[in-house]
Amino acid sequence: KAKERGGNKYEFYQSALDGIHRNKIKLERSLRKALEREEFVLYYQPQVSAADGTAGGAEALIRWVHDGRFVSPGDFIPVAEETGLIVPIGDWVMRTACRQAKLWQDAGMPQMKMGINVSPVQLQQDDFVETVTRILSETGFQPHLLVLEITEGIAIRDIQDTVDKLVALKAMGIRISMDDFGTGYSSLGFLQTFKVDELKIAQTFISHIAEKDDHAQIVKAIVAMAHSLELDVIAEGVETREQFAIMRELQCDWIQGYYFCKPMPSEEFERYLDERGRKHLQSTRL
Ligand code: C2E
Ligand code: MG
Ligand code: MG
Ligand code: MG
Repeated sequence: KAKERGGNKYEFYQSALDGIHRNKIKLERSLRKALEREEFVLYYQPQVSAADGTAGGAEALIRWVHDGRFVSPGDFIPVAEETGLIVPIGDWVMRTACRQAKLWQDAGMPQMKMGINVSPVQLQQDDFVETVTRILSETGFQPHLLVLEITEGIAIRDIQDTVDKLVALKAMGIRISMDDFGTGYSSLGFLQTFKVDELKIAQTFISHIAEKDDHAQIVKAIVAMAHSLELDVIAEGVETREQFAIMRELQCDWIQGYYFCKPMPSEEFERYLDERGRKHLQSTRL
């Protein structure tokens, strides 16, 4: 009997694994077709100045509409990275976001920055710098308004090669942002090695900042350090008025989060800039 149960258990486990395997293969197959089927769309989330409440930039966040459902980037980006599909997908993201940003720029927002998430796998490509250069010239978007968000994952391969590429990009005027800052293990050395212009404090610090004093102390220290290195600081994942007020008090430069708004499709983002931009201006005058 016990053997029987064991057998069943084993079978159950096996078929669950098969399911995961099947799903992953299915996911990969669908992902391969997603670009040509135009199933990707970019959402944009404003980055709001803590000082005056104006939107100084946006982060582009990819969405995949597959079989009528949204697949979260957290679920498909890792597969895209494993399969190398992140390279063509990442090119599409960059071209689309730069084209959009150029339109907004021409429509009367001359200083709006555009933040784009760059996977370590993209940075490892020999032609990454050429790709960015080509996309900028194709779209006419200014390099000094382009912000590339990188993570500590970029150090998994050849560090010198990565540094060389970032130096080349920075020489063009492109800004480098350290995403999810504080979640990795070698954060301080990274800022120096990769000569970033901006750091985004990870949401984990922000979400407990109102309850846990040690989080506030850490954030305070991060901001002080960043400013002494002349880096801009963005808080991501700010959801409440209280978190916003604390981050502002701690001299954080930019705020991004549901407190202002969720990532939105481009038309909605435009309406937001038209209608709500002014309201934010008022609500930030605490
Ligand atoms: P990330 O770059 O750290 O982006 C911030 C994430 O936090 C986004 O999730 C955003 O929707 C979410 N967020 C913003 N404000 C709040 C808030 O107030 N509360 C909460 N709970 N969440 C908030 P999303 O869009 O699901 O993206 C997840 C991750 O997927 C991103 O993290 C980024 O690492 C990756 N990703 C997204 N788009 C791209 C892309 O185009 N290329 C690459 N390589 N990665 C991307
Ligand atoms: Mg990001
Ligand atoms: Mg982040
Ligand atoms: Mg993240």
